[in-house]
Amino acid sequence: MENRFTSDYVVLAAGAWTPLIIGAGVPAESISPMRGQMIAFERSAVRHVVCGADAYLIPRSDGFTVAGGTMEHVGFDSSTTPAGIASIRERAARLCPTLESASIRLSWAGLRPITPDFLPIIGPDPDRSRVIYACGHSRNGILLAPLTAEAVADIIAGVVPSHDLTRFRPGRQ
Ligand SMILES: Cc1cc2nc3c(=O)[nH]c(=O)nc-3n(C[C@H](O)[C@H](O)[C@H](O)COP(=O)(O)OP(=O)(O)OC[C@H]3O[C@@H](n4cnc5c(N)ncnc54)[C@H](O)[C@@H]3O)c2cc1C
Repeated sequence: MENRFTSDYVVLAAGAWTPLIIGAGVPAESISPMRGQMIAFERSAVRHVVCGADAYLIPRSDGFTVAGGTMEHVGFDSSTTPAGIASIRERAARLCPTLESASIRLSWAGLRPITPDFLPIIGPDPDRSRVIYACGHSRNGILLAPLTAEAVADIIAGVVPSHDLTRFRPGRQ
């Protein structure tokens, strides 16, 4: 059964899947999925976030230590792999040797929506101003979510966004 919805604006915020939406004006090469695997060690190893050249550690209040992450071009496959987990463990242990023998409580993976310049795509479609893009946040989508939401709300309300969105304009690639 087909459902039809009518609205004044459409916000496209489907992460790495945005180019797959029929009618979206985002070419496939503008956003690609990049898998990131993470693990949680059953050990409290650090007191604050530790960033290394190729790994980072995050202490959790429940006593676990989260370590990440891989950067893999494997399409839309969001599964974890033994090789990915082993590589995170090895890099985490280089930052904090006690993690070499720690048990792994949990592992998971997600798909980052990566743009060629690693900047998000935020703003109206150049040809259809009622289609608003909020996608391609690459490695910083959690960090940038509140600002992106504010910018999209401003655009729809007809208010000039408080941040200059020029570098994030759709169609720049
Ligand atoms: C391992 C890992 C670690 C990360 N660490 C950080 C970090 O520390 N800080 C940070 O800022 N960012 C981090 N990121 C990046 C961050 O997760 C992404 O940038 C962010 O999730 C992008 O948000 P989004 O809402 O645009 O896309 P997503 O979170 O991918 O959400 C898109 C949603 O759209 C849905 N969708 C897809 N197609 C359709 C459709 N046709 N109709 C309806 N819904 C659809 C999907 O199911 C999904 O729920 C990390 C990512 C990974 C994988």
